[in-house]
Parts: sequence; structure tokens; C-alpha cells
Amino acid sequence: MNNICPWCGSEKAQIKLLVKDEFLTKEDFNICECLSCGLLYTIPRPSKDKIGLYYKSEEYYSHKENKKGFIPKVYETIKKFNLKHKYKLASNGIKAGKVLDIGCGVGDFLHTAETHNWECTGVEPSEDAKAIAQKRTKGEIISSEELETIPDCYFDLITMWHVLEHIDNLKWQVKQLQRLTKPNGRIVIAVPNHKSYDAQYYKEQWAAYDVPRHLNHFNRKTLTKIFKSEGLELKKVDKLPWDAYYISYMSEQYKQHSLPLLKGAFRGLVSNLKAKRTGEWSSIVYVFEKK
Ligand SMILES: [Zn+2]
Repeated sequence: MNNICPWCGSEKAQIKLLVKDEFLTKEDFNICECLSCGLLYTIPRPSKDKIGLYYKSEEYYSHKENKKGFIPKVYETIKKFNLKHKYKLASNGIKAGKVLDIGCGVGDFLHTAETHNWECTGVEPSEDAKAIAQKRTKGEIISSEELETIPDCYFDLITMWHVLEHIDNLKWQVKQLQRLTKPNGRIVIAVPNHKSYDAQYYKEQWAAYDVPRHLNHFNRKTLTKIFKSEGLELKKVDKLPWDAYYISYMSEQYKQHSLPLLKGAFRGLVSNLKAKRTGEWSSIVYVFEKK
């Protein structure tokens, strides 16, 4: 039952792109478009016991700490700025309360939130990352399954920073978000946008397709529709401008072009300039409110 839409369950889909796992295994995957709801998704989807193999790499930046070298240093510096931006964006206009960060990695966001008096809970599937995150927060880092044991309407704020595209059980996840958020509570979702200029430019070599780690590929229309159908209202859309540079740089590397840093910086700049007009940023942050 691999080839069904993870959102609406339709089997009617057309293949849009053939994408290689440039990052690790060099295996090929298809990206399909659901002809019923429009969502793009990766097939085949690795089984639960195999998916971990695709994350096993020294270079999977998001789960590593204390890296050496120029690029990791730049990445770390940008990450710090990005973190401040993310915290501001997510917490703007609300009082500190209970926050859940799903896919919390090594706990960067939770650590920041805790210093601003938030009571933190995290979800993290990687055991290594989970152990690090647990040391950095007083709150509990749990497994995704354990979310079901948490009472309804528990959190004031739920965040998923570049995580929803990795989620295998999309429908279950969105329902949990809806259930766990307090009335008038906030859900913040950041995901890559396949309608962005850098996505259109790099096509199958766009690094943010990142198959098969990314199973769902969103744009403004599909993501908003999915949340709206669960009674979550879109309040605001924002951007993570650094992502255009990072994704363009990674894409240049996949193309094995010379000067990937320079070319990536240029392409990222073009993407951000175009997005100022179109709103099609490389990554988009969606702020939803539960009614
Ligand atoms: Zn669908």
C-alpha cells in the first residue's frame, strides 16, 4: 500500500519527478502529485524499520553538535540567528506557557524557549539527539507514540521546524496537533516550499526534496488546505530567508558545480528577491490558531 496519498488516501497520482537520494544512498525515488488533493509525496516510502538507515550519516547537520570546519561554523552562526528569529516568530504576542516541539533534534528550540520561561516537552525519534535534548531541558523528551497519552488541549504552542515533511503518518499527526492544542492556542509549522524559485530552478536536484527523508512536499495551497480541514485557521505566513541560501548551496553541491558556496549564495539571493514579490519563499512558516 505504498502508493496512496498520505493525506487523502487517493490512489490517483501522477509522477512529477524522479529524484535521487544525493545525500546518502544514491537511490532513486519518485515524487508523485495526488490528483485528488494536490499534495506531492515520495514513493516508494521506506518501511518503518528501514527509514533510520537513510538518516545514518555524519553529515546530517540537524542532529550534530560541535562540528569543525568552515561550512559547519557558518551553519552554526546562521543557526543561532535563525533560532532567535524562530523563537520570536513562534512566541510573538503570547504569554509563556506549555510548549511542544515535535522533532526537537538536540533541543535547540526548547532550550531557547526554556530560557524564556516556557514549560517544555519535545518529541524526537533519534535516540542520540533525544539524549542530548534531554540534558538541555527540564521538560520531557518523548516518542511520537507517547503523544497519545497526553490529555486534550494541553499545549499553548506546538512547533514543528522542518519536521512535517518527514512525517510518515501525516493524517494522524495533524489530528494530534489539533487535539493537543488549547482553544486559541498556536501551531507553528515550517516546511520547504516546492513552489519557490530555487525549487523551480534546481528541479530534481533541489536539495529540499531530500528523498526519502522528506516524504511529504508542501506548497502554500496544500498545507493550508490540510490544516483548515482540521479546523485550524491560518493567522500568518512568514519566511526563513537563510533557507534559500542553504538549500541553494546544497543543490549546487549535488550538481557538482564548481564554487557551490558562491553560486548557492547568488541563487539564494535571487530566490529571496523574487519571493518578496510572490511570497513563494524557499521555506515558509505557517502560524495556525485552533478555534
Ligand atoms: Zn491526496
